[in-house]
Formats: sequence, C-alpha cells, structure tokens
Amino acid sequence: MEEKRPSRLRTHSYAELAKQRERAGIYHADPTEQPLMQLELVDKFFNLCRANSLWPLTFGLACCAIEMMALGMARFDMARYGAEVFRPSPRQCDLLIVAGTVNRKMAPAVITLYEQMAAPKWVIAMGNCAISGGPFAGEENYVVVEGVDKLIPVDVYVPGCPPRPEGLLEGILKLQEKIAGSRYPFPQYNPPRKDK
Ligand code: SF4
Repeated sequence: MEEKRPSRLRTHSYAELAKQRERAGIYHADPTEQPLMQLELVDKFFNLCRANSLWPLTFGLACCAIEMMALGMARFDMARYGAEVFRPSPRQCDLLIVAGTVNRKMAPAVITLYEQMAAPKWVIAMGNCAISGGPFAGEENYVVVEGVDKLIPVDVYVPGCPPRPEGLLEGILKLQEKIAGSRYPFPQYNPPRKDK
C-alpha cells in the first residue's frame, strides 16, 4: 500500500500558528472598531510622514539581500526616498523586507521579528523565493516555505530572481503610495537633453 505523504506546507505548524494569530486579531486592529476621535487631516499628515520615513529592518535571507544592500549604496541611493535607515532591532522598524528564501527553520524567526516590530508596520516580499518559494519550490523539497505570506501579511510583492535594486525601489514607492494614498516624493528632476 502506498505510503501517504504528509502535506508539505499547508498543514505546517507555523503557517497554522500565523493564521490563528491573524484570526485572533494580533496583526490587525479590528476594522469594525471606531477610534475615539476622527482626525482625518492629522491621519493624512501622519501617513505622509510614515510613508516618507520608512525604517527597514537589517535582515536578509539569501541572494536577494545583496540587491537590497545595493539599493542602499550610492548608485541607487534609497535615501532619496527616506527609507535608508536600516535598523538592527525590530522594535525600531516599521518595514520588513523579506529578501530571500524562507525555510521552515527560519519561519519562527520571521514571525517573531514581525511581531516585535512597532505598529503600524509593513512587509515587502522581495524576489520569487519570498513570494512563492522560487526555484526551490520543487515537489521533493520539503524545507522551503512557499511564500512568506503563509506566515505574515505581505503588502507589496517584488518579483524577480533576483529583482534589480530598481525593482525594490519601485516596490518601496508602491508601498509609500499605499500608505500615503498617492505617490511621494515628487517626481525627480529630469535635466533637459543636450541634443534638443
Ligand atoms: S529569488 Fe533568486 S536571487 Fe532571490 S533569494 Fe531566491 S534564488 Fe536567490
């Protein structure tokens, strides 16, 4: 009689644990709950500040992290968009860039880091590994979590293997758009071309 294999990820205890926590409202405030005071203009102002001063966690899992580091260097310079302050402690961060392969051993650490971050907080899944397991999501490979969104909520997905630093930059701009409601900062100055 053929041996029945256990399902690889869907019954994985960490994924189940993450779902239970999400259902219990640990990750998100109750959307039906109304705040004591409605200060729309103040909210807009704070969201604009949050969008333009994202503090990512110093955290890389695999090759995609090299591209993430390149984004912080002079050539791409994510400081132009206020997101360059990589912090070593999750308690000082509001952005988790999951850059690389998430395996089962790492899953509890990813969940813990996310839970230790200050709210409001956001997550970018960078690269095919973080989105879906990437090239490691084979039938026989039982160690890879097929998408970090099985563990924690993800706001922006940046596809590629690896995505270029410009791709991650676009992901950060998309996240800023999501937080502030429109795209900031203002478009870059394009000097006129000499041949015109
Ligand atoms: S998506 Fe590609 S580059 Fe990124 S961690 Fe996976 S294998 Fe490496």
